[in-house]
Amino acid sequence: MKKSPPATFHPVSTPDFLPRERLEELQLQRLKAIVRRAYDHVELFRKRMNERDLEPGDIRSLADVAKLPFTVKTDLRDTYPFGLFASPMKDIVRLHASTGTTGKPIVVAYTREDIGVWENVMMRSFAACGLHAGDVIQNAYGYGLFTGGLGAHYGAEALGATVIPISGGNTQRQLMVMKDFGATAICCTPSYFLHLVEQAPELGIRLKDLPLRAGVFGAEPWTESMRRRIEAESGIKAYDIYGLSEIIGPGVAMECRCQSGPHIFEDWFYPEIINSETGKLCADGEEGELVLTTLGKQAMPMIRYRTRDITALASEPCECGRTLRRIKRIGRRSDDMFIIRGVNVYPSQIETALLKVEGTLPHYQIILTRDQGLDEVEVQVEVTRDVFGDTIGAVDQVRHNLCKSIESLTGLRVNVRLVQPQTIPRSEGKAKRVVDQRKM
Ligand SMILES: [Zn+2]
Repeated sequence: MKKSPPATFHPVSTPDFLPRERLEELQLQRLKAIVRRAYDHVELFRKRMNERDLEPGDIRSLADVAKLPFTVKTDLRDTYPFGLFASPMKDIVRLHASTGTTGKPIVVAYTREDIGVWENVMMRSFAACGLHAGDVIQNAYGYGLFTGGLGAHYGAEALGATVIPISGGNTQRQLMVMKDFGATAICCTPSYFLHLVEQAPELGIRLKDLPLRAGVFGAEPWTESMRRRIEAESGIKAYDIYGLSEIIGPGVAMECRCQSGPHIFEDWFYPEIINSETGKLCADGEEGELVLTTLGKQAMPMIRYRTRDITALASEPCECGRTLRRIKRIGRRSDDMFIIRGVNVYPSQIETALLKVEGTLPHYQIILTRDQGLDEVEVQVEVTRDVFGDTIGAVDQVRHNLCKSIESLTGLRVNVRLVQPQTIPRSEGKAKRVVDQRKM
């Protein structure tokens, strides 16, 4: 283990290189304090601790985390709006909320200290992928109640980079600004960036001629095939950032320049992987549901929060020298899984299968229907104009290859419909991959 970061690294990244032993001491010290805080100030947590006959003093080692009760998303909804706050409103300087499509949103809170932690992890996120003062970061995450915009904003400013707070949407203006302001990096969802890539030529812009060199992409699951497609078409490096509002927002984990999975900022977020059915801890390297405990969040401590994201922890050293463990790219959420004729399928499997076939574009939608009790899947995928310009036989061949590719990856026979470029609705935020029209 290296004791200090190599000289070429940005000084803000120093905590990324702590010796494991030192890091674990720090984690334990913070864990004890946060459990005490949650116990003293959050009724639901205290109640669950009491039910287990546990007191904050019972937490003596990091392994004792496993004794603590889980927190789940419905806890946030059930205590809407402020029931999980551990600070009085006079100490809370910011509220954010999810834009729930159904029912009440979930609300999250920050003290000034929490905002400081958030700024710190976002600053380290940008530094991890090689950004620094002098970079011009176009922040196309939505500003507002969504945590993406302001989270990235503060981190980029703290790094000393120049921020363009353009927010999401308005594709033409995004591209004009990207070119005229000389953006060197962009933050948005990977699907929105693909949309920008696609629209650029219509404005006479060649992305490969611009100074843009890095994309910090997150807020939706995406695959390695999607990364390769983005990089080939835009000439930039695409980095995966991970976060969720319940924990802090973006900046829970971020890839370094090795692009081998996001490093978790473990000094602030304690990760575990559990079997989502049994709730038991998984063995090292085994895949399961990511559970996170916030080690420093004052306004709203989250103890063993079940993220529903499926991943695995990688403990082997990264070439960059960071001692922080990595998570495997999150290509799927247990929430996104759909069951068709008894088979569990994730949109990311379909995505990987599609992008293997030449002539396809990275825009697709999965339509689920039910006909006389039988589930049907139709995958609509855009293909290049060349495919349609080809003979009917060639079109059929592409469709056949797609069906084969999907079947070999998921074991599922699906109907594939090839559609013209620009047919699938584009999203300015998170892409909608699955349309479930089955009547329950
Ligand atoms: Zn690394």
